[in-house]
Amino acid sequence: MEFWYTEEWTENIRFGVKVTQHVYHQHSDFQQVDVFKSEELGTFLTLDGLMMVNEKDEFVYHDMIVHTPMAVNPNIKKVLVIGGGDGGTVRELTRYPHIEQIDMVEIDELVVRASQEWIPQCASQLDDSRVNLYFEDGVAFCAQAKNATYDLIIVDSTDPIGPGEGLFTTAFYTDCHRILSEQGILVNQNESPYFAHNAKEMQRAHAKLQTIFQVSRVYQAHIPTYPSGHWLFGFASKGLDPIQDAKFAQWNEFGLQTKYYNTDLHVGSFALPTYVLEMLANAK
Ligand code: SAM
Repeated sequence: MEFWYTEEWTENIRFGVKVTQHVYHQHSDFQQVDVFKSEELGTFLTLDGLMMVNEKDEFVYHDMIVHTPMAVNPNIKKVLVIGGGDGGTVRELTRYPHIEQIDMVEIDELVVRASQEWIPQCASQLDDSRVNLYFEDGVAFCAQAKNATYDLIIVDSTDPIGPGEGLFTTAFYTDCHRILSEQGILVNQNESPYFAHNAKEMQRAHAKLQTIFQVSRVYQAHIPTYPSGHWLFGFASKGLDPIQDAKFAQWNEFGLQTKYYNTDLHVGSFALPTYVLEMLANAK
């Protein structure tokens, strides 16, 4: 008997994965956490029925959300990850020996434990000595964090619904600006331009970021298992330009082997389709 995991990308479009096993099913105080095994994508984790991370394409998202800012400011030492429960973002950060501190604020401990048990490929570095895990709301954490504490904030969150909603607000981005150092960078998963509801959230986030940060840009990657496969990230800073100020030679000297990110693709990822540029220009 064939069993399929299906996800509604819109009420008219469904995404499906043939599944061999449904190995984990728990409801936390925040969301429904499920883990499936499949031929094509390997093991994957969903939250409230939405694809979060799978063994086959997680490298795309985690490369782009970490190495893009690290190439702009290779001297980043103190990092804050908001969300990131599967551990993939932290895994990529721990590959930089000069990073001294990684604070990860994940509201739902169940996501971390499920990832450690079922997707060790992502969660393998959460016990690195530089990593401090906080199981609390990232909005509250940032509100009480001290000024100029971090060089990089990565908002690796779910969509702006449920617990993730607060991570797309002006108040939250204002706190992020305050707790970042002068060379600080904020990177966030910024939804997608293709389906209407994702595009609306993308525009809303961008409109807020550009009123708070001196530099606010958007870059893209191809993530086949996220709605439409065309996924965007936000890059915001207090002055650093993601391309003009990038230190590509210094980043390449780190000699990190990556499967998706490279410094040429970095430049290309900020070259957006015309319809996306128009959406961003009209963002409010
Ligand atoms: N890569 C995935 C994506 O782009 O959708 C997201 C990775 S991770 C699974 C997203 C995490 O954000 C989840 O573990 C969720 O629990 C966490 N999260 C949602 N709202 C949060 C909040 N307010 N504070 C901290 N973590 C939050």
